[in-house]
Amino acid sequence: SDKATMDIPAPRAGTVAELKVAVGDTVSEGSLILLLAPAAVDGPGPDAAAPEAPAAAAGSPASTPEADVRAQVAVLGAGPGGYTAAFRAADLGLQVALIDRGETLGGVCLNVGCIPSKALLHVARVLAESEELSAAGVSFARPEVDIDALRGWKESVVGRLTGGLDGLARRRKLQVIRGEGRLTGPNVITVQSGDDETTVGFEHCIVAAGSSPASLPGLPDDERVMDSTGALDITEVPERLLVIGGGIIGLEMATVYDALGSRVTVVELMDQLIPGCDADLVKPLHKRIAARYEAIHLGVRVDAVTADDDGLTVSFAGEGAPAPQTFDRILVAVGRRPNGAGIGAEAAGIEVDDRGFIAVDGQMRTNVGHVFAIGDVVGEPMLAHKATHEAKVAAEVIAGDDVRWDARSIPNVAYTDPEIAWTGLTETRARAEGIAYEKATFPWAASGRSLAQGRDDGLTKLLVEPETRRLLGAGIVGPNAGELIAEAVHAIEVGSDAQDIGLTIHPHPTLSETLGLAAELADGTITDLMPPRAKRASTPAAT
Ligand code: FAD
Repeated sequence: SDKATMDIPAPRAGTVAELKVAVGDTVSEGSLILLLAPAAVDGPGPDAAAPEAPAAAAGSPASTPEADVRAQVAVLGAGPGGYTAAFRAADLGLQVALIDRGETLGGVCLNVGCIPSKALLHVARVLAESEELSAAGVSFARPEVDIDALRGWKESVVGRLTGGLDGLARRRKLQVIRGEGRLTGPNVITVQSGDDETTVGFEHCIVAAGSSPASLPGLPDDERVMDSTGALDITEVPERLLVIGGGIIGLEMATVYDALGSRVTVVELMDQLIPGCDADLVKPLHKRIAARYEAIHLGVRVDAVTADDDGLTVSFAGEGAPAPQTFDRILVAVGRRPNGAGIGAEAAGIEVDDRGFIAVDGQMRTNVGHVFAIGDVVGEPMLAHKATHEAKVAAEVIAGDDVRWDARSIPNVAYTDPEIAWTGLTETRARAEGIAYEKATFPWAASGRSLAQGRDDGLTKLLVEPETRRLLGAGIVGPNAGELIAEAVHAIEVGSDAQDIGLTIHPHPTLSETLGLAAELADGTITDLMPPRAKRASTPAAT
């Protein structure tokens, strides 16, 4: 138009046979613009069994293109982003095809990510707690761990959830298509499963292809060198484990293997564990694991690894790098790579950047109007709860709702021991970007509940806007921090100020009280510590 340039998605793949207009012509809705010779499509044609469904909105082409399977919405990838989008679209009355190459639905999160890692971390926590109880006069015999039974139990947890997804997909009458999917035209995904090929014609597509573990060049091709998937498929407890990468995934797996008896070394390129997280939140974790693990090397990188029958010999580089050492296994946890490069995006004209990310607008729409993208493949933070919320936006926009992504903060959690959770503004970002904030930190040494659990190493920190006193960000370190952070996420979402949180009655004695007490600290009304305005040294008192 005079004012804007817009992509109009073609309803069919094909070749432009004749242009009926020239640049500068005025056209209106319904004008013939071009003649399209459709590409030949194999398959039996319309899916007679598909139920009647309303036309999808959001730039909807006239009809679903012909293919083996026809759907108003094709979702590529059945992780938390993909299955949520598919279920929501189906609930809004659209015909949906859900495509995934995995044996089970659920993607990384359910199969080889969030859920199996938390199952193993639960076991690690119970093992650590049974050790810690000796300080309270209760000692247990050294536990016996049956690795095969442990792995079986973890798989049963995963199986219950993925089986549940199968049931939910069936009840919603989704067409689930298993195999490797690639876009082969603007409105077609071709799915390969062994020698079988199925074409899926769609009006709208949601790319939810997720991410894969990043690898390091030069490592030997040896089964003792694992990524997170290999580490979760726990087959033995190595005597010495090297974890390359001190981020969340590496440290969670280190927590598991340490509890099971491995001697763990962590090497991290940056000068802090969990780079990007505020240093005061990381400190209690660093202190605790430094006392348990064999070594933590910061600002150090792995230079070379050689494999032989005795193990994996690793040489390190960087200031303070240790001498070469031999490990029984190595876990490579150096981040994740988006899967945007492997989906045939070019066939539909979808732009994918050099790293494999797909850019989207506030409605999760790619540069191609009828193709949406969600989850890890659209960018950081690569988290399941970000993917599910983006999924709902995409499905609702396709169904015709005028909605957009509008979350004020996305929480991050490291399920380590202690857990670390943060949301909204961090001090690291505030300092880098010159954002004004006031900080209130409540030490868990003054929390009766924390002391009663044998822990005094946590803290709850709130960052507030100096003028409005609204909550800008929060960080918590301590057991169950991941559960506690939800209150701060909600407070930021609804625009609460410190007084709102301080006046909210938290049950006593709980760890959740530390949020109320940190808010009282920000508000100057705290009585469990000395209030900040009284110019006296504050002495934490247990409540
Ligand atoms: P994914 O879950 O990656 O799913 C994408 C799906 O698409 C996969 O099933 C894949 O096989 C399929 N696919 C990709 N390409 C194709 C193709 N061409 N054809 C067919 N299928 C295809 N996040 C949290 O929020 N909390 C946690 O505690 C947490 N813990 C984690 C622990 C570990 C060890 C790991 C590895 C990750 C963890 N994550 C966690 C991250 C979380 O798993 C991801 O953010 C989340 O799974 C992303 O969801 P998604 O739907 O974008 O993609």
